[in-house]
Amino acid sequence: MSTESQLRADIVEVGRRMYARGYTASNDGNISVRLGSDRLLMTPKNVCKGFMTPDMMCITDLDGRKLQGDREPSSEMLMHLEVYRQRPDVAAVVHAHPPTATGFAVAGIPLDRAVLAEVLCTLGSIPIAEYATPSTQELPDAVAKYIKAHDGMLLANHGALTVGADLFGAYYKMETVEHFAKISLVARMLGRENLIAREEVLRLQELRGTYGIKSPAPICADETTAAAVDPASCQVVQAPEGGGLRLVAGPPSLPAKESGGSYGVTPAAHEAGAGEIRLTYRELSDLIEDAIRSLR
Ligand SMILES: [Zn+2]
Repeated sequence: MSTESQLRADIVEVGRRMYARGYTASNDGNISVRLGSDRLLMTPKNVCKGFMTPDMMCITDLDGRKLQGDREPSSEMLMHLEVYRQRPDVAAVVHAHPPTATGFAVAGIPLDRAVLAEVLCTLGSIPIAEYATPSTQELPDAVAKYIKAHDGMLLANHGALTVGADLFGAYYKMETVEHFAKISLVARMLGRENLIAREEVLRLQELRGTYGIKSPAPICADETTAAAVDPASCQVVQAPEGGGLRLVAGPPSLPAKESGGSYGVTPAAHEAGAGEIRLTYRELSDLIEDAIRSLR
């Protein structure tokens, strides 16, 4: 267990990195860590995370009562308290507004496609918690729906939240979320995402144990049952059947949940430049909607 002075210094360092990387602007974002079993060390309200000093932090109990500190605790304290209530394994919470991930949160597009093995092994899927007014009880309520099964999530029209067994673990997940969002954006601009097949996703899930990663919930790659799955118990990932292939090509912006598992386009068809792409009416509507959205 780190000492309090070390944790104060670590929060300052993580805040400095978040600000330097553009994950927060002005006074955005907040950070907290567990201090023993019944207290939290938390960033204060109204300070730029890039210019904090160790003495600025607040100490609260797990109900949010301030026990120590000259300043008031973060305006998003309720969200942090909810995470600690729901996840005894979590010792740190990081909230920021990284621009690319937040762009996905504004567009209402979750980062839930099976495209990067590393992300599948660590975060799994990154859902979007429903829009809530910041600083109100609505936000913890929205987060509560997903936090049992996810270590990272987007907050609709707001930002991102990551948690970890220690502060740097939580911060690195924020880096992964933003990195994943950037890569996803580039792939979508290039016009194609080759998804990792469901069989490979399940294999990657087994590797989580090998790397010592304790996943908060199993990955549910079967989109036919995923719709009925409680987001608090399972991570839903878009990963179509590979039929022996480890990668499955898909047209851009195809929601696998509605596709019935078939993309109608095989890698071989792409390579051969075959002229035929089969789409369901729903898939076609989604593509047209995406195209119109990109024109605006
Ligand atoms: Zn925020």
